[in-house]
Amino acid sequence: MTSLHETPAPACDAAALDALAAFGRFAAARGWVPATAGNFSVRLDAAHAVVTRSGIDKGNVGADDVAVVPLAGPIPAGMSAETPLHLARYRADARVGAVVHVHTLAATVLSRADRAAGAVRFAGFEMQKALAGITTHDAVVELPIFDNDQDTAALAERVEARLATSGVPGYVLAGHGLYAWGATMNDARRHLEGLEFLLACTLEERRIAR
Ligand SMILES: [Zn+2]
Repeated sequence: MTSLHETPAPACDAAALDALAAFGRFAAARGWVPATAGNFSVRLDAAHAVVTRSGIDKGNVGADDVAVVPLAGPIPAGMSAETPLHLARYRADARVGAVVHVHTLAATVLSRADRAAGAVRFAGFEMQKALAGITTHDAVVELPIFDNDQDTAALAERVEARLATSGVPGYVLAGHGLYAWGATMNDARRHLEGLEFLLACTLEERRIAR
């Protein structure tokens, strides 16, 4: 029930749905959202985001596959267990306009391999410049790793505490997958694609170094 003091939730607009559907097709075409994995969201306004529902085919997102969620909760039924990780990003940083999460092979493998170090480190790659604020290959980029946790509200608190001092627009959950965000869906996608490319290169380098 809506009280007199609450603003009614806005409806999902066509631009938000289009952005989520287009990103879903992009990620599905690359095999990054296997077995209904992954979740994506876009900010609607200062207090709401549109988030993909749980268990849907992320390559074929339609109007019934997304929901408007208040950033402060409560989270409606049928949403992904990872919704708190999205909402925490929007609450922590007003500049965040989109959050995307995928389960790629390189993110899953390297987040386990480097878990003890707490980060996957990249250095010397031109692709590092895909990340906002990085202007040269000649820098070390540390992609934070967090232990996976089914208590995603608690996990979101740990993530946000560390992100306060991380300039990288993404992180990985060990044995799970990759998160990235940006001011717009295009920025979030560029960050995700860049980080995934860096992860794939690093995995390949370790293979040939054996
Ligand atoms: Zn996931």
